[in-house]
Amino acid sequence: MTYRGRFAPSPTGPLHYGSLVSALASWLDARAHRGAWLVRVEDIDGPRTVPGAVEDILATLARFGMLADETPVWQSQRTARYEQALEQLKSTGLVYPCGCTRKEIADSLLHAHARNTTLAYPGTCRAGLNGKPARAWRLRVPDGDAAVISFEDRWQGEQTQNLATEVGDFVLKRADGQWAYQLAVVVDDADAGITHIVRGADLIDSTARQIYLQRCLGVRTPHYLHVPVVTNEHGEKLSKQNGATALDTDKPLEALSAAARHLGLDLPGEAHTTLDSFYAAATAAWAKRMGMNF
Ligand code: GLU
Repeated sequence: MTYRGRFAPSPTGPLHYGSLVSALASWLDARAHRGAWLVRVEDIDGPRTVPGAVEDILATLARFGMLADETPVWQSQRTARYEQALEQLKSTGLVYPCGCTRKEIADSLLHAHARNTTLAYPGTCRAGLNGKPARAWRLRVPDGDAAVISFEDRWQGEQTQNLATEVGDFVLKRADGQWAYQLAVVVDDADAGITHIVRGADLIDSTARQIYLQRCLGVRTPHYLHVPVVTNEHGEKLSKQNGATALDTDKPLEALSAAARHLGLDLPGEAHTTLDSFYAAATAAWAKRMGMNF
């Protein structure tokens, strides 16, 4: 196997400490496997994309010593591939147009909640639009045992999700015409030949959906590893929205050492003198922590 990993930042602001942890973990895993490390710019969510953020993130990664082994891929340039994937799913009847508004879905979920049943999309438009205009495209999830998706997470252990009861038929193309993250990420990882996904644990809940989508599209399922997310003092995931500050790019070693500590890596004193010594020690420590021969 030729290892291919990636870091997939959304350019909603400069790199912050939480995203540095994900970048570092994916970098160390790729280096420990002597594999390739790619960068994908997840800029399909137009309204959330901040001008200049991509350049800023790439410059910070370079300053911190993390250079992609191939030219970065931009999701905004790949919409023709997402369209093809949707067409493939349409031809097999796995997707259907949905005419529900947010309010209608919220109302039906409220009812479901009152009855103490599932909070998954109730499948209202499965049987047809009932005269409503098509707004979004949803992927039909299976019923019964086939709805249960399990995978072994390399950090978090065995994971299981029932797509029918916990998620419901999920959106691949949104009512505003934007491609959903779930579809884009699966198509992009498959096209790039990604074998190992290392990212923050906030995305673990999406993984079963992505595995199901991989099966529907007939592409391989990569190995998964979700690292603990960095939280603020209120226990919320650190994000640009809740005040995470940009990294001090003048002090890469300080930020990298803190990120390594967050990943539970114990580094000797000399690891903190140069970027080269940091990466050598951190890669060895990561390999040891992951039980790899390195
Ligand atoms: N773009 C996503 C984020 O910044 C990461 C997606 C992924 O790694 O699958 O949270």
